Amino acid sequence: MTNLILFGPPGSGKGTQAAKLVAKYGLLHISTGDLFRYNLKNNTPLGQEAKKYIDKGDLVPDSVTIKMLKEKVDENKNVNGYIFDGFPRTIPQAEALNILLGEENTSIAALIALDVDDEEIVKRLLERGKTSGRADDTDEKIIRNRINVYKNETTPVYDYYDETGHSMKVKGVGSIDDIFARLCSEMDKLV
Ligand code: AMP
Repeated sequence: MTNLILFGPPGSGKGTQAAKLVAKYGLLHISTGDLFRYNLKNNTPLGQEAKKYIDKGDLVPDSVTIKMLKEKVDENKNVNGYIFDGFPRTIPQAEALNILLGEENTSIAALIALDVDDEEIVKRLLERGKTSGRADDTDEKIIRNRINVYKNETTPVYDYYDETGHSMKVKGVGSIDDIFARLCSEMDKLV
C-alpha cells in the first residue's frame, strides 16, 4: 500500500491534483472537506454540526472529523492505498491516522505539500467561489481566516511528518500539468 497525504493551504490545488493522481496510481481519494460537504448537502446530523465551523472557516472538532475519517477508511480496506486530502489538519488527527493505519499494518509513505503564496490563494479561492457554490469561497474575510487557521493549526502537521523524514514540498504554481509532473516525480520514488 502507498498512502499519501496531499497537503497545502485551501486553494492550493489538492483536489485537482488528487483526481489526477487517482487516475494514474489507482489510489482511493479521501477528502474530509468533500465528506463534510456531502453531509451538509444531505442535511445529516453530522452536516448540521459541521456547518457551524465550516461557515466561519474554522476547523470542525477533531473528535467529529476523526470519527468520520475512520468510518471512511474502515469501509474501504481493500485498496492499493489512500490519498488523504485536507486531513490530517491537526496533530491529534495525525496521531489518530497513524494509529488507524498501524492497525492495518501500513503507514504514511509521504506528505507532499503544495507550496502556494497567500495572495495567489485568495485570488484563486475568490475565482473558484464564482462557480463552486461554496459559501466559504465567496467571502474574503472567511478565506483569510481559513489561511490563518492553516498557518496556526495545520502547518505543525508538516513538521510532525518532517521529523521522520516523510515531508516534502512541491511548487504549487504553474499549469495543472506542470504541477502534476512535479508530483509524479515524487510519487514514482514511493510506489
Ligand atoms: P476543504 O474542502 O478541505 O477546504 O475543507 C472545507 C472545510 O471543512 C474547512 O474549512 C473545515 O471547516 C472543514 N474541514 C475539512 N477537513 C477538515 C479537517 N481535517 N479537520 C477539521 N475541519 C475540516
